[in-house]
Amino acid sequence: MAAEAVASRLERQEEDIRWLWAEVQRLRDEQLNAPDRGQAEGPCLTREVAQLRAENRDLRQRLCRLRLCLAEELSQRAPLGGAARAAGRNGAGRAAAGAQVTGRGWLRGASLRGGGAGAAQSPGRNRYKKSRLCMLTSLYSDDFQGNNQPDFVKERLKLYEILKKDYQLLFALNDKKGNTSNVITVRMAGGKTVEGEVWTTTPYQVAAEISPELAESTVVAKVNGELWDLDRPLEGDSTLELLTFDNEEAQAVYWHSSAHILGEAMELYYGGHLCYGPPIENGFYYDMFIEDRAVSSTELSALENICKTIIKEKQPFERLEISKEVLLEMFKYNKFKCRILNEKVHTSTTTVYRCGPLIDLCKGPHVRHTGKIKAIKIFKNSSTYWEGNPEMETLQRIYGISFPDNKMMKTWEKFQEEAKNRDHRKVGKEQELFFFHDLSPGSCFFLPRGAFIYNTLMDFIREEYHRRNFTEVLSPNMFNSKLWETSGHWQHYSENMFTFDIEKDTFALKPMNCPGHCLMFAHRPRSWREMPVRLADFGVLHRNELSGTLSGLTRVRRFQQDDAHIFCTVEQIEEEIKGCLQFLQSVYSTFGFSFQLNLSTRPENFLGEVELWDEAEKQLQNSLVEFGKPWKMNPGDGAFYGPKIDIKIKDAIGRYHQCATIQLDFQLPIRFNLTYVSKDGDDKRNPVIIHRAILGSVERMIAILSENYGGKWPFWLSPRQVMVIPVGPTCEKYALQVSSAFFEEGFMADVDLDHSCTLNKKIRNAQLAQYNFILVVGEKEKTNNAVNVRTRDNKIHGEISVTSAIHKLKNFKKSRILNAEEDF
Ligand SMILES: [Zn+2]
Ligand SMILES: [Zn+2]
Repeated sequence: MAAEAVASRLERQEEDIRWLWAEVQRLRDEQLNAPDRGQAEGPCLTREVAQLRAENRDLRQRLCRLRLCLAEELSQRAPLGGAARAAGRNGAGRAAAGAQVTGRGWLRGASLRGGGAGAAQSPGRNRYKKSRLCMLTSLYSDDFQGNNQPDFVKERLKLYEILKKDYQLLFALNDKKGNTSNVITVRMAGGKTVEGEVWTTTPYQVAAEISPELAESTVVAKVNGELWDLDRPLEGDSTLELLTFDNEEAQAVYWHSSAHILGEAMELYYGGHLCYGPPIENGFYYDMFIEDRAVSSTELSALENICKTIIKEKQPFERLEISKEVLLEMFKYNKFKCRILNEKVHTSTTTVYRCGPLIDLCKGPHVRHTGKIKAIKIFKNSSTYWEGNPEMETLQRIYGISFPDNKMMKTWEKFQEEAKNRDHRKVGKEQELFFFHDLSPGSCFFLPRGAFIYNTLMDFIREEYHRRNFTEVLSPNMFNSKLWETSGHWQHYSENMFTFDIEKDTFALKPMNCPGHCLMFAHRPRSWREMPVRLADFGVLHRNELSGTLSGLTRVRRFQQDDAHIFCTVEQIEEEIKGCLQFLQSVYSTFGFSFQLNLSTRPENFLGEVELWDEAEKQLQNSLVEFGKPWKMNPGDGAFYGPKIDIKIKDAIGRYHQCATIQLDFQLPIRFNLTYVSKDGDDKRNPVIIHRAILGSVERMIAILSENYGGKWPFWLSPRQVMVIPVGPTCEKYALQVSSAFFEEGFMADVDLDHSCTLNKKIRNAQLAQYNFILVVGEKEKTNNAVNVRTRDNKIHGEISVTSAIHKLKNFKKSRILNAEEDF
């Protein structure tokens, strides 16, 4: 009875589908046969076409839903058939038998890897290739009768398959209709052209024609300047670039594709809801919402194993364009993807990509299939909030990295090891430079030796200020919120500020110095004669960083900058910028950093007059050209209030850091109504402000320098410059004398009078503590008023008089040379 009822319902539904499908075709034909009517016969028909399109879309959606119901019913009619068939297959089944089937526990450990590898080597593998679902999917769903694959994964896949079939049908239909020429011209980056067929030829095919190696090593294509999947057919005459992993954009695509693999593994392992999974500077991460549970770092290796299985599967990345309404249906189980659809997608359709059982909302492009990832490592996890907002849901973030060959992974691992050894938090602890305390998160306690580094850096910059006609000022730390309203911080930055009430008014700790400096400029009338006004300020700044994001000295709440604001006339921009560039060159070369320059110009949302922007950008370019170092253009990347020069320094292990900024500002002077009297008597002229810093945050610079030098500070900056060691008790008094002679000359000098250590052990200890110079004194040195010099790297310079040694060290300190130990 029941079977008959189901059968007749199915029949009805199939009829419905046939009718709807015919209807879809009819509407499509109407559209296709009258492509120009809308334009030729006026807005009335355009409206008609639009309506037909809308109806068409509706019908297609109804069709989808019907098909989904049908599939549902069919699967209910034969509930366990598929599973029974699959159970006897091969490696996949063995994986199940060997694993613990407790909740999702079977995925943990190496059992899955065994399954994957077994299957991959099995002679029966081809059978899987034929299957629509890839082996991993069948492995996850059939063998466990779907218990372990979250239900939403199955639903999603079902809907996807239906949509894909629809798309293929429509595509085939389209294909038959085309009676125009199918030949397209593809122009390669080198100028060479090849012919292809429209909607058929793919970038991968073009690459393979040139050479199989090229096709193999290409990560992604660029078609008419747009990144493009290698297997996506070309849609017309095109220019084509083939990008390999050494290209930055290709690297991002590679890591982005790897994030899908990680996402797929995370969904299967945790059953949670995926959020964002972007590529980052080094690798990628995926955020996931998991109810009542956090990720433990002990699970990462299991995740990595699942990723490796997915890679072995060579799951193709399939692209499908789907309407937003259907996508909201597809992702209805996941409120985060729905938020993205509702808030970020402003078009009626968007794309999803499938690899294995994962279907993800994504613009793409990707690598061809998961097998393109040759080495992958899942290495870190943390927690975060949806869009970084602590009021929103807590998410679990898992990080990974991947490479197209194992050698690159090995290099990366070695580099990580090196970076770990140099970690400024480690150096800071070992050398007793600084610490943090729970009672003031993100605000560093600098111990005496750390404070020495801090002050030495500021003294260095002060000296430069003096030479370069900057004047140092001091300004308040807290201001009435009215100041921040004027500057615009209140509207755009208030969540990053510490605010509090005082006598019925709201105040805030300053996150930057500029508004205060504007008050100083406005304090009295200004004339062109005193321009440029260069105000420098080491003022203490506070920014309300989330406690979860605080990290050593690189992300803090309390910091100081070598901040300065130059108030100048438009005509003075070029000269001032040149001065800034020379300033930073002088500071960075002292540290031993090379750097890169980028000019970021007018963005789309700019404020102010175009002429002013053009003039300023021209002057910035002139300064860069005259400065004579290579630089690059970042068109449209400037801030809305002015163009800027971005500077990135490169450290000893090849990492880049952005510290300095040179930022023009046309808006702040207007907001504060800053004026000066020009040469021709106009008293309403607005100055231009140049925000500039070279160290940037002194705290962060100390972190970068610690890691750059790996704790081996150059002499002038070293918190341990001289260690005096007596050979025996009879020379102790002399040792003390020597050390105080150096100390009085301003050096960080110590003496080791520990009787429990041998001379050699004392020398070794001083070397490990990174004292630049170790001065050993015995009877002979005492008689000659001399010291015996060796370095932390055990280079022995021998005996020298105390006076000469002091003289030499003073010169090293003054000239701030990097290799004083060699030069002695
Ligand atoms: Zn993607
Ligand atoms: Zn500023």
